[in-house]
Amino acid sequence: MIVVMKPSSSQEDVARVLERVEALGLQAHLSSGESHTIIGLVGETGRISAHTFEVMPGVERVVRVAEPFKLANREFHPQDTLIQVGDVTIGGNQIVIMAGPCSVESRSQLLETAHAVKEAGAHILRGGAFKPRSSPYSFQGLGEEGLRYLAEAREIYGMPIITEVMAPEEVPLVASYADILQIGARNMQNYRLLQAVGRQEKPVFLKRGLSATLQELLMSAEYVLSNGNPHVMLVERGIRTFETYTRNTFDINAIPALKQLSHLPVIGDPSHGTGKWQLVAPVAKAAIAAGADGLMIEVHPRPAEAFSDGAQSLKPKRFQALMEELRDLVQALGRTL
Ligand code: PEP
Ligand code: MN
Repeated sequence: MIVVMKPSSSQEDVARVLERVEALGLQAHLSSGESHTIIGLVGETGRISAHTFEVMPGVERVVRVAEPFKLANREFHPQDTLIQVGDVTIGGNQIVIMAGPCSVESRSQLLETAHAVKEAGAHILRGGAFKPRSSPYSFQGLGEEGLRYLAEAREIYGMPIITEVMAPEEVPLVASYADILQIGARNMQNYRLLQAVGRQEKPVFLKRGLSATLQELLMSAEYVLSNGNPHVMLVERGIRTFETYTRNTFDINAIPALKQLSHLPVIGDPSHGTGKWQLVAPVAKAAIAAGADGLMIEVHPRPAEAFSDGAQSLKPKRFQALMEELRDLVQALGRTL
């Protein structure tokens, strides 16, 4: 349920509504826009009549929110959520590019890649230290050693870092190094993990599950938000379909749909979304044209030797070419890079 205040309502009117919400045992989320103040109610609102609030001074109207996601819902929070990471703002006019290797393989491999993506204009460095691999015999990541290399690359190149956290008990360790915590597709519905990242302050990069609907993705975001962390990015990284030519099917629909349903920043990951480096640049552009606020792109200096996801990794030169092509597109869309 949402209580929309009149533009002429006073602070006292708002305070009285908040008091009433609390007295009913519900939680209130205040969102102040340019003309309207909106009060979102979370809890058992089904038993409460809209009339309770409609008669109060300063109230314009009361709207019931049909969707089960509340805090992630754009109706609750009409303005775009902006997430500040160092000097980078995610969710605003600027398109934010996160790039780097799938896995941190060694100090030299990470620093070489970080140098290349920084030169090309990427804003944030990615690299997996804890890797969710389909096979237990595949490279599982360097763990904390990988986190140390990421932190070193941040110091040298002045870029914030994003890396995946796989288990609730590893959240404090990963959060002590990373600027953004990635929740991988396979963990999108690991509710204990979502609660754990919700209870700390680092922004969360939430990847859509392999077979998850948009509503399930938004309900997972709701877990993080309802545990106190308002800084969540929604990531389209491709879903399972009957098509086997590509690793996944990048769901372009998800981008405008998520932007309409939610105020949270939406990021496209054409690397995992296609699984083929030849398709990464065109799908990256499609994601931006469809309204994404940023991209995650895997880059490796020698993809043929990569420990993971070599087939979908761009060589630095191709990444640089993509960044150049994006500049024109972004300008045509009235955004910046
Ligand atoms: C990754 O970003 O390298 C990764 C493992 O992604 P996903 O969880 O989307 O498969
Ligand atoms: Mn990967």
